[in-house]
Amino acid sequence: MKTPSRLFLLTGAGVSAESGVATFRGAGGLWEGHRIEEVASPEGFAANPALVQRFYNDRRRLLPTASPNPAHLAIARLQREFPGRVTLVTQNVDDLHERGGSPEVVHMHGELLKARCVFCKRVRDWSGDLDEETRCGDCGGQLRPHIVWFGEMPLALDAIFEALGACDLFAAIGTSGQVYPAAGFVEMASRHGARCLEFNLESTATSPHFDESRTGPASRTVPAWVEELLECQDAEA
Ligand code: NAD
Ligand code: ZN
Repeated sequence: MKTPSRLFLLTGAGVSAESGVATFRGAGGLWEGHRIEEVASPEGFAANPALVQRFYNDRRRLLPTASPNPAHLAIARLQREFPGRVTLVTQNVDDLHERGGSPEVVHMHGELLKARCVFCKRVRDWSGDLDEETRCGDCGGQLRPHIVWFGEMPLALDAIFEALGACDLFAAIGTSGQVYPAAGFVEMASRHGARCLEFNLESTATSPHFDESRTGPASRTVPAWVEELLECQDAEA
């Protein structure tokens, strides 16, 4: 097998599950007890902005109580030590990849630690709470969480598609393969000839598109894979 030189890693809520951050579809399609449309759609925000702000305030407040797990650390190590290109794209809105030492993270669904003005669209760092009265310092517009909700366009898609078209190894870690366009990345990578590898606790909607699925907790399977990849590079050097 040809040694890969351009890696594309897609992570989902499963990579943060062992850090104590709840996944999306754990309990019957609810996110922390809420219907997804209620807290993750523009319609939900228009219907009840206070509830939506409170929901993300709670998620944001919990961030400091979670720590990166061995999967986050191994991914950061791979980014630092792999001699080729490693693109890390996450669907997660937490900051655990950054705190795990990842030098570059593309947050395609936004970040809890940022707020965006609904009027001038300026994005700023935000670590406190947001409420209906929180205003943009530039234009006075309302600030909302910098989160991509259902029905909204994910971020950085051009750069993502470019990296997907160029990768020769695609890995999806802890994602259920139910949220598009991310769920379609494996087919794109595979069409371009990349080998595709899935890490999950169970098989998913997109498992049939992968060349290989490694089953088990990401904190165990991902560090083992990173070790393998780096050893294989050392052996070649
Ligand atoms: P998801 O919740 O739909 O699926 C999580 C997947 O991870 C499942 O397939 C599950 O089997 C797997 N998993 C759970 N624990 C695992 C472990 N220890 N090791 C390996 N796999 C494990 O998540 P998704 O596919 O990322 O889609 C959910 C959407 O919700 C995302 O768009 C994201 O923006 C948002 N979300 C983010 C967070 C976060 O930032 N941590 C948490 C919940 C939801
Ligand atoms: Zn503004």
